[in-house]
Formats: sequence, C-alpha cells, structure tokens
Amino acid sequence: MRTRPPGATGTGNAAPFALAGPITLTALLALAGCQAADSSGDAAPPPGSDFEGLAFEFEEVVPGVYHARGTGSLSVGSHGAVIVNEEDVLLVESHISPAAAYAVVEEIEALTDKPVRYVVNTHYHFDHAHGNQIYPDDVHVIGHEVTREMLESGASMGRSYELFVGRLPDQIAVMEGAIAQWQRSVDEAEDEAAREEAAAMLAAFESRLAYTRNYAAGQDALVPRGPNTTLSQRMTLFRGDREIRILFFGRGHTGGDVVVHLPQERVIVTGDLLIPGLPYMGDGYLAEWVETLEHVKALDFDWVLPGHGDPFQGKERITYLQDYMRDLQERAAALHAQGMSYEEAAAQIDMTDHAEHYPQIRFPGVSAVAVQRVFELLDEGS
Ligand SMILES: [Zn+2]
Repeated sequence: MRTRPPGATGTGNAAPFALAGPITLTALLALAGCQAADSSGDAAPPPGSDFEGLAFEFEEVVPGVYHARGTGSLSVGSHGAVIVNEEDVLLVESHISPAAAYAVVEEIEALTDKPVRYVVNTHYHFDHAHGNQIYPDDVHVIGHEVTREMLESGASMGRSYELFVGRLPDQIAVMEGAIAQWQRSVDEAEDEAAREEAAAMLAAFESRLAYTRNYAAGQDALVPRGPNTTLSQRMTLFRGDREIRILFFGRGHTGGDVVVHLPQERVIVTGDLLIPGLPYMGDGYLAEWVETLEHVKALDFDWVLPGHGDPFQGKERITYLQDYMRDLQERAAALHAQGMSYEEAAAQIDMTDHAEHYPQIRFPGVSAVAVQRVFELLDEGS
C-alpha cells in the first residue's frame, strides 16, 4: 500500500470519486472561498491507487510550466502539463483513470499549494481524458465539443480503448501462468544459483502482476465524463499575468484536438496531434491532419510539450510528421484503389524512406490500424 499524505482520513470510496462531494469539509471550505477542492481533504483515493512511491515526475520547462510524466509505478497513460498561475493551476490532461487523475492532483502539492481550477483535455482518447470524473463541478474541464460528444456517448470506450485496455485480462492470465511456473522452478531448483535466478524472475513477474491488477482496478472504477466547458474554435484564459490560449485548427489525431498555447512563454502543449515519434493514427484524419499541423507550425513557440515522449524544441518535427502522413496516405490510397485489404496493404507499405527521422522504422510494413483508418475514410468518401 502507498503511504497516505498527512491529513488523509478517508476510509470509503464515494462514487464517482470526486475529490470533494457536496457535504465534505473540503467543499465547504471551497464554498467559503478558503480553498478549492483538492486531494488533502476527506475524499479517499479511487480504486487503482495501490502503488508505491510517486506516480508522476514534473519537469519545469519554463518557470511555472511543467511537463508531467508517469514514473512507471502507476499506469497514467499520457504525459500532461501543469501550468501554475498567479492564483490557480491549469492541468492539461486527466490521464488514463480516476486513480491517475487523483495522483497528479495530490502530487502537484509538492510544486504549489494553489488549487486546480482548470483541466484541459487535448482530445477524447482514454489515456488523456478518462480521469475527468474526479473533478467537482466547480473545476472547469475544458475540451473541444467533439471531445465532449465522444466521451459522453461512450465512444472513448471503442476500438482504440479495446486495442490497448481490452487486453488486460489476457495479460493478467499470462502473468499468473508465468508466476506459477517460476514458483515451481524455485521449489524444484537443483542448486542455489538456479533457485536465485528463478526467484528473481518470480519477483519480477509478481511486481508486474501487481501493477497490472492495479491498472485494471482503476479501469473498473471508470465512468467516462466529457468536459463541462467546450469550445469549437478557440478560448483564451487570462489568469494573472498568464495568457493561456486553447486552439482548434481542424481535425487531426481525432476530430477534436486542441493545442494549449502560452504565447508569452512560447510553449505549446500538443497532446497527440504532435509528438516526437509517430502518433497513433487509428482515429485520425491523415489528410486533414497534415493541414492542421500547418497552422500549428505558424504559431510562435520554442517548446513543445507532447502527450507522449519528451519535450522538444523547433518546428522540424512538424514537417517530418507531415511528410510521413502525406506519403502514408498516398501509398495506402494507391493500394486501396487496387482493391487490396487493409491488412495486406499494411504489411506491404514501405515507409523506410522515413527512417532517418523515425529510426524505429526498419522494415516495410506499417500499423494495420492506421491503414484500416485510411481505408475507412476512403470508403466513406470523406
Ligand atoms: Zn490519442
């Protein structure tokens, strides 16, 4: 079990695990203007909070602006950002579960005692927005109107969710089998060296199983919830000296990706619209994505804080991604026109000419779900 912070007195879980319910002390203090809802009150951590140490690490990229990344002790899904303003905090992303969202709110107490008043979902994907339910109504959870529609309709539990999270029961079963085998190897080892080796493997699988079971427990507690504040094109928050722009430039990684732009600090937070590597394309609009990135490129910024991967500088990576997607779209469309299945096409498409910028590409063959998506859109004629 993890150590609870001082003052954490919760013993039960009041669904849906909002940080403060209507009758809690924290909520009363918030009403009195003393302190917004935070995790130091009487709400218990949500299911899936059984982990050791810290869930997040925070890298301060410019003063008061942090990239938030998982440490590996808890499944958090995506990277987010913490923007500390004069009087309050804006978080980008609510991560993969109520437990992950709760952890980030709790752990930023090491950075600031200001309350979280705003949360931005860059898009609807489960690993970015499935922690929304922990926030009480007086916290503005902001996202594109498509993001709200997808989360509220249950679409965030669809194909992409299944592709990743749907495998958890199978993964748990495999680990349980491996643990039973390694336990036998420990019991039946012929000498001390063999026993130690087997014991080390057993411990590694047990630790992985605990992590995965905790991850699954966090998913069981999930009630997807859309943003309570939406935009269709842009929104600007003025918080003290800080200007925070939330911008939609067109469809891309999903139908509703927003970019958070801090013009004075010259920082953008991009979710999965732009990451240092190749983003997931299974819900994307490749042709439009290339155009959308052109608008991102036109912004003034030095730093990109992505939804996966490390912060980076400069605009070259935008061009690399545009080139990749343009070529993938073109090559997939050519095979679609020949009547090929998406699986065959995915196995055949050769993107090794992009390996200079994406070193993980070593052989022909691309993500089947990306090609499936391109084919879907071609079939729909969109
Ligand atoms: Zn995504």
